Amino acid sequence: MASSAACIFCKIVKGDIPSFKLFESDKVFAFLDINPLSKGHALVIPKHHGAKLSDIPDDSLAALLPVVKKLVLATGAEDYNVLQNNGRIAHQEVDHVHFHMIPKPNEKEGMGISWPQQKTDMDGLKVLLAEIKSKM
Ligand code: 5GP
Ligand code: ZN
Repeated sequence: MASSAACIFCKIVKGDIPSFKLFESDKVFAFLDINPLSKGHALVIPKHHGAKLSDIPDDSLAALLPVVKKLVLATGAEDYNVLQNNGRIAHQEVDHVHFHMIPKPNEKEGMGISWPQQKTDMDGLKVLLAEIKSKM
């Protein structure tokens, strides 16, 4: 299991730093966020250390979303956001992959979203589609 000695979430997985643990399996660890945006805000992380989604092996990634779903059901959240930030400019503060499960009980609590949509450019989208597909 890859881990980083300096990583705060690896320390939480090891138990070197305490956490409000919700769930643990061989590949996944889940705990309450220490500065929640709403009641029940939880983090689901792979035990495998990696900063960004693309650093995590597929088998660990595949184990994460079922745990997010478990937490949604256990908290009784009806409206909620699932968020996974990659990179500073994308609001990532902790460089160990984590999925946020953030209940949205009302307009004020939970995640606020800015959604700066751009104008549709069909020709641009066609070129982009071909470019991305050629690299998959
Ligand atoms: P990011 O902005 O990187 O997506 O989110 C990092 C999250 O980790 C934040 O919501 C922050 O409150 C949470 N966090 C940071 N350090 C700790 C910690 O030591 N314990 C817990 N439970 N959560 C933490
Ligand atoms: Zn780590």
